[in-house]
Amino acid sequence: MSEPSLPPVENLVIVGTGCAGLTAAVYAARANLNPLILEGAQPGGQLTTTSEVENFPGFPEGIDGFQLMDNLRRQATKFGARFEQALVASADLGSIPRKLVSTERTILARSVIIATGASPRMTGIPGEKELFGGKGVTTCATCDGAFYRNMDVAVIGGGDSAAEEALFLTRFAGKVYFVHRRDALRASRIMAERATTNPKIQMVWNSIPLEVQGVAGGAVNGLKVRNVKTGAESVLPIKGLFVAIGHTPNTGPFATALDLDANGYFLPFGGSQVKTKIPGVYVAGDCADHVYRQAVTAAGMGCQAAMEAERWLAEHAG
Ligand code: NAP
Repeated sequence: MSEPSLPPVENLVIVGTGCAGLTAAVYAARANLNPLILEGAQPGGQLTTTSEVENFPGFPEGIDGFQLMDNLRRQATKFGARFEQALVASADLGSIPRKLVSTERTILARSVIIATGASPRMTGIPGEKELFGGKGVTTCATCDGAFYRNMDVAVIGGGDSAAEEALFLTRFAGKVYFVHRRDALRASRIMAERATTNPKIQMVWNSIPLEVQGVAGGAVNGLKVRNVKTGAESVLPIKGLFVAIGHTPNTGPFATALDLDANGYFLPFGGSQVKTKIPGVYVAGDCADHVYRQAVTAAGMGCQAAMEAERWLAEHAG
């Protein structure tokens, strides 16, 4: 009986098809690296849930998030990038070839770029999912805040992200309700002070969200909350809801191979944004960045990772 044949060893495998992964794909494919791109559970990444992207450079009229990602994918394909549906479950990155184990098969690669993104945490209350993305519920004030000029909005959360989102929203919104489940913010002192003293921000303390209203009309028109101290329920008359209760970086399958920070994000190595402690293995985008989290910063990291991979592959040819 003949031995089952081993899969081919890919030059470069890019895991993830958000802004970081697809930009890495464009650069790597254009550099003739013949990359294989693995597409996971959310092809196109977080931007595909945003209706209009107004701050990606080069699109003065704005661009639909899905369209932007489709453009990037076509751009990568034009230069020869290959795509495959595969959800990586575990990885052995320490020896060459690296092994990426998906539910379907094991993929072998000389070098790897991990661009798996981060998933915003959601509250799970009724109406949140139905009205997410273009209908009033969002997880990114920088992306969507400008759509709520002179309207009242709410932010749910209590950490630095929520404080930052609430403060950013004061530039556009009429009033910003800042809904927090306890009586003190988790955010750093300076951010908490800025948020709680801003005249446009109304703190809604000790309150848990119960329901996003407006499903029937297809647009947010209120947030029902309950005060956990008094039990009183009320409806905040809002048009936009910003959920900012943290993100979960999609780093799980690589957690044993690479260093993570306390929040589970990849820790870059050697003064670089994209290098890891394993030469030839790079990270890019939101899985390695909890500070900026923008499409353009993720794209920038994707570019860096591809250029580093190109250099590494040239030095380790064969
Ligand atoms: P975070 O610090 O984990 O805060 C999450 C907040 O959401 C907490 O206040 C939490 O309430 C609340 N929350 C969690 N689940 C909830 C639910 N189901 N319903 C209602 N509220 C809920 O997350 P983050 O703000 O995204 O920050 C993550 C990390 O990034 C932190 O280390 C932060 O300092 C850092 N960060 C830094 C900056 C900056 O330096 N400029 C900006 C953004 C983020 P409890 O407090 O009651 O647990």
